[in-house]
Amino acid sequence: MSSRVPEPLLVVSESAESAMVAAAAKAHPNETGGILIGVYLDDQPWVTRAIEIPSPYRGRHHYKIPAGATQPAVHAARRDDHRLGYLGDWHTHPADVGPSPTDLATLALFSITHPLTPNPTLVVVRNTGDGYVIDARRILTITPRTCGLRIAGDLPVDPLSPEGKQ
Ligand SMILES: [Zn+2]
Repeated sequence: MSSRVPEPLLVVSESAESAMVAAAAKAHPNETGGILIGVYLDDQPWVTRAIEIPSPYRGRHHYKIPAGATQPAVHAARRDDHRLGYLGDWHTHPADVGPSPTDLATLALFSITHPLTPNPTLVVVRNTGDGYVIDARRILTITPRTCGLRIAGDLPVDPLSPEGKQ
């Protein structure tokens, strides 16, 4: 038996996919984004709605959900259907590039600071030039990795410090 963690799966309803693709095309060449809403089915997230959240913090290379905007959008979706909940965030990339180091760091940070949201998903809608593809990432485990070790000398004295000037 393999002890490998199974590859995470993301189910996306066609209507959610087309909403993200339409938003990406409309916002081009700028980014846009929002939140992923849906349910868990057999422990796997199923995105049934992708809600676009307008943001002043967006441009050709960035998009950020305004602080405090997520909760009201989730509550509004839950008023329509109480089974729904927050599953993660999505945003578009006007070029054919996957999640940036910042995108992945934000996902990792969120996973730590929101322990009640199990394994949030990040979706990046990439423009391949020939259409849009859904690029989804999820952190399933945060495994501390063994670090290589290197022993170094002391930090050199700063030449501008009082000791360095002696
Ligand atoms: Zn991004």
